[in-house]
Amino acid sequence: MTSQFGRRMEIAGWGHALRTEAEVVRPELVTRLRESLLSGNGIARGLGRAYGDAALATDRVWQTTRLNRMLRLGADGLLTAEAGVSLGEIIRLALPQGWTLPVTPGTQWVTLGGAIAADVHGKNHHEVGTFGQHVTEIILCTADGDLHRIGPDQEPDLFWATVGGMGLTGVIVEASLRLVAAETGYLTVDYERTQGLEETLEWFSGNDAAYPFTVAWIDGLSTGRSLGRAVLMGGRITERRELQQGTEVYPMPRGAIGVPFEFPSGTLSRSVGLAFNAVYYGMHRPERQKREAWWKFFYPLDVADDWYKLYGRRGFAQYQAVYPPEVGARELRALLERIHKARHPNFLGVLKRMGEGSPGLLSFPRAGLTLALDLPMQGERSVELFRDLYAMTADLGGRVYLAKDAFLTQELFRRMYPQWQAFVHLKTRLDPHDRFRSQLSERVGLSGVR
Ligand SMILES: Cc1cc2nc3c(=O)[nH]c(=O)nc-3n(C[C@H](O)[C@H](O)[C@H](O)COP(=O)(O)OP(=O)(O)OC[C@H]3O[C@@H](n4cnc5c(N)ncnc54)[C@H](O)[C@@H]3O)c2cc1C
Repeated sequence: MTSQFGRRMEIAGWGHALRTEAEVVRPELVTRLRESLLSGNGIARGLGRAYGDAALATDRVWQTTRLNRMLRLGADGLLTAEAGVSLGEIIRLALPQGWTLPVTPGTQWVTLGGAIAADVHGKNHHEVGTFGQHVTEIILCTADGDLHRIGPDQEPDLFWATVGGMGLTGVIVEASLRLVAAETGYLTVDYERTQGLEETLEWFSGNDAAYPFTVAWIDGLSTGRSLGRAVLMGGRITERRELQQGTEVYPMPRGAIGVPFEFPSGTLSRSVGLAFNAVYYGMHRPERQKREAWWKFFYPLDVADDWYKLYGRRGFAQYQAVYPPEVGARELRALLERIHKARHPNFLGVLKRMGEGSPGLLSFPRAGLTLALDLPMQGERSVELFRDLYAMTADLGGRVYLAKDAFLTQELFRRMYPQWQAFVHLKTRLDPHDRFRSQLSERVGLSGVR
């Protein structure tokens, strides 16, 4: 069905475990966005990389991908762009001029608006904080159609509710971001392997200060003494003097490959996963140093455009949580063992130590370890597993990431995000009729009955 604004169609979270139908409106101009906004309810949507239902609504979604003009890149590295430009487009514009993103998530195919709304973090969180902490100004279209110019010093309450606010304060139409200088488009990366969880955690304690970028890829399938064994990466931007003469200083990738169709659910079986993990683990010899082009280091998953199709029609979901600093190997072991006990396949595991959190009211990062695991959906038993993991997380004083979540209950959300009341207070004042609502916000009680 088509209205004067958009067309009803099926949309999904990135994990494709949750799908719905909504009227998708793709305005090219802010005036058009405001018109359609005043006649419907729904939520902003960028490139749909949130795994669960943060960018799903049953009424409308305002997809910003046509609000994608680059507006300015100053000699001081201050970039201003419309909210629908992707981080990949920003890098392609800025890198040849010696600038790069201060913070990037594990895919370049997220929009500027989506990166602010989820207050995304990267491999350098322990050094530089979240994406939102580098944003100097946002133009936000609120429920009454007004445009607010907000920043850390202009309407800071609204700014810090919008940064990490999952689209619930309004639609970000434009933003300014402070880029950082990059001498080259390469990373110098040290790889190490560990034999078990304790060793993996020790590596972080010893190396976080040594590298701007750190991350551990953990073999989610190994058990017993090798549980938590990992390939660890510590990286820094390569200096120009380290490049051989004639090397392209700012290389650019060729196109990604695509996954042609959805595989039958279960194709990515436990045995395939075991083999994949063993090969990846075996591939990285200890303490090997490599020079990697930026996209290989930051975005290894972007090598295939739509790899979610590998998980089949039932899709997958991600568990990502951050735990307070006192949580260590014993507690992580219990979480991983809970998954093994369920005999639930689990392929991709990423572990990282985060630095202090941002002032964003609903921002996810906080000091401590963060663990992310992709789990193929296998019906009710997967849902049960997520509920158990979430309950364990709350008991540890941790929280799950709203941009990845599909199962959080209102009760657990409130335990995990203690600033929820301040957020709801501000939202009620700004958007008394809940024009902005997503399936996530309804599920956790950030819109609707409160
Ligand atoms: C492979 C992969 C790796 C990832 N790695 C990381 C990582 O390392 N770190 C991390 O933090 N995240 C990571 N993510 C999550 C991703 O960065 C976030 O979900 C991000 O918000 C997606 O941006 P998007 O443009 O696709 O937004 P969508 O997924 O479309 O929307 C996400 C949220 O942002 C809101 N939103 C989008 N645009 C706007 C706007 N213009 N105004 C207001 N609200 C808006 C939506 O309402 C929704 O609540 C990863 C995701 C994938 C698929």
